[in-house]
Amino acid sequence: MASTAPLIDGFGRRVDYVRVSVTDRCNLRCTYCMSEEMTFLPRKDLLTLEELDRVCAAFIRRGVRHLRLTGGEPLVRRGFMDLVNCLSRHLQSGALDELTLTTNGVRLREFARPLAAAGVRRVNVSLDSLDRATFARISRSDCLDKVLEGIEAAQDAGLRVKINTVALKRDNHAELPELIQWAHGKGMGITLIETMPLGAVDEDRTEQFLSLADVRRELEAFWTLADLADRSGGPARYVRVAETGGKLGFITPLSHNFCESCRRVRLTCTGTLFMCLGKDTSVDLREALRAGRDDALLDAALDRAMLLKPKAHDFTLPVAGARPAVARHMSMTGG
Ligand code: SAM
Repeated sequence: MASTAPLIDGFGRRVDYVRVSVTDRCNLRCTYCMSEEMTFLPRKDLLTLEELDRVCAAFIRRGVRHLRLTGGEPLVRRGFMDLVNCLSRHLQSGALDELTLTTNGVRLREFARPLAAAGVRRVNVSLDSLDRATFARISRSDCLDKVLEGIEAAQDAGLRVKINTVALKRDNHAELPELIQWAHGKGMGITLIETMPLGAVDEDRTEQFLSLADVRRELEAFWTLADLADRSGGPARYVRVAETGGKLGFITPLSHNFCESCRRVRLTCTGTLFMCLGKDTSVDLREALRAGRDDALLDAALDRAMLLKPKAHDFTLPVAGARPAVARHMSMTGG
């Protein structure tokens, strides 16, 4: 019989949050994330929609309560809404607390209403600049208007939107207060992220690295930031900005280690389960899925994976010219 035992790692942390990448493809080419000429995976290597549905169901059976779909860009995966509509049965049954996604927003206008109808309540939208030329330089595409329309459509459809912004020394450092004010003015939370050394890109990330400890100090020169107790089971630490009334998060994998409370794992679009964003330890679930209809092998692979979840990652502060800590790109593991 299929197991319903909770997923508990070797350090007693209960894993109840899974990020599932549904594709490695993306309609943007953000400079810190990908190189301009990326080679994407052949389609046969990807988990099919049925396999994605089955592996998500197995996680939920083992006690996962939060499922976040990501990529690459999830909204470019053909049949994405079929998957969401199928997974929404777990929201209806009460087995899942939350089904959500991380998107660049380019196609959100067309997906906002169907997502809301399927029971999605909030989405994270990545946005690094409100300036058209800066956005285009960072993402190598002229899509800012589409993203802004997507955000508006999501809010109109009743979805809560949170903005994720990668803090980049050269490209958006000076613009960060404006971005925060803009997000808070529209009733959205915003989280700043330090660039992480994941996968080779065309530029040296150390030139763009911006310590969020420094950014926080700069913001405190003109705003009052009050620490909040909220944790999302993940890396972000939150403050309330007294002057805007909005919530601001900081994801600081390099200047602050956040692993002690980590209760999440990440599945790539090829079915490789990574227990930590910053480590290579992984277990192949695709083989277990393709071995047959019985979930016994899948459950055994999940049990094995729990024992492999490392206590912490060990990203170090950037050294100019150093190789990435992890060879795979964020678009592979999913953000
Ligand atoms: N396409 C979707 C999006 O744009 O949100 C989902 C995938 S994307 C890889 C997820 C998040 O990871 C985005 O906010 C992106 O900016 C961020 N990201 C990508 N590479 C990163 C890196 N090397 N360091 C920090 N954040 C990164």
